[in-house]
Amino acid sequence: MSSSLSRSRANTFSSLDIERDADWRSDTATINDRLRGAAARFLLLRDDGSALVASGRERLAELSRDDFVRDGGAEATTIYLGKVQDRDWFAWRQGDAAAAAIAARLGGDFIDLRSAGMALEAVDAGLFAYARAIVNWQERTRYCSVCGSPVRLESAGHRAVCTNPQCAAEHFPRTDPAMIVIVAHGDACLLGRQASWPKGRYSTLAGFVEPGETLEAAVQREVYEEAGVRVVDCDYHSSQAWPFPSSIMLGFTARADDPAIKLGPELEDARWFSARQLVDGLASGELLMPSPLSVSYRLVEHWLRETAGIELDALTRGDPLRRAARG
Ligand SMILES: [Zn+2]
Repeated sequence: MSSSLSRSRANTFSSLDIERDADWRSDTATINDRLRGAAARFLLLRDDGSALVASGRERLAELSRDDFVRDGGAEATTIYLGKVQDRDWFAWRQGDAAAAAIAARLGGDFIDLRSAGMALEAVDAGLFAYARAIVNWQERTRYCSVCGSPVRLESAGHRAVCTNPQCAAEHFPRTDPAMIVIVAHGDACLLGRQASWPKGRYSTLAGFVEPGETLEAAVQREVYEEAGVRVVDCDYHSSQAWPFPSSIMLGFTARADDPAIKLGPELEDARWFSARQLVDGLASGELLMPSPLSVSYRLVEHWLRETAGIELDALTRGDPLRRAARG
């Protein structure tokens, strides 16, 4: 039996070992020392959220303090991410023209986060996801949600403080929980598809957790709303940072005691698939799985392994998404 710790670490964006040093973020002197130190490294994010990766595209470009100073980084908001091995990582945002000039000088390309999840080494993909999550929050947190005054960023980019002294409200980065679940009944699992998806693609059911709701109640509600199926048991599987723009995906396995499906408005189709139907559908190309980037893929993989001792990776080798990941 694996634990949720090891299952989560197998998810894309989820194997980053970082000392976040939250206690030090508000200590400006310490952060400035690290910013000026030889161990400082800068993850360059362009305005569209893509990151500079080194030539070869498997690692993030590690910009040095010299690069940062030369290209005007001292003017940028300090965003401290944390320490990875011996390096103090900062995120550094630049406009399109300046980012292009830096890339031209250093070499390398800009890559979006989804592509990075497939192409980069796991630790670098995780660091990029973390940087994107904090920057996404900063971009959406320009005004105080209490009084409407502008905010200023403090604590190395991890806290926004209202500039109205009568208010002075503090705002912190948000993470919105979303659940995603593979429901089993007998020897089959429940997958659904939205009308906008490529033909033949099916995935596990998912939705946001609502205020006042437990994770388990959200699993039950979403499965019932989308497919009319009552979940009677569910268990946590693993989680994944999902900064599109600010979610955490919470994967569950679940069991239904009645297979009757009654489609809700969100899905075009939902049906039960046996292991045999998955194997045959993937072999013929009539069935496509969710992206291997997603917890959904991991949940199908888990179910197929537990139910039939079959590895999903072995069945999806011809999938264009997986070919793109290797290419
Ligand atoms: Zn305010």
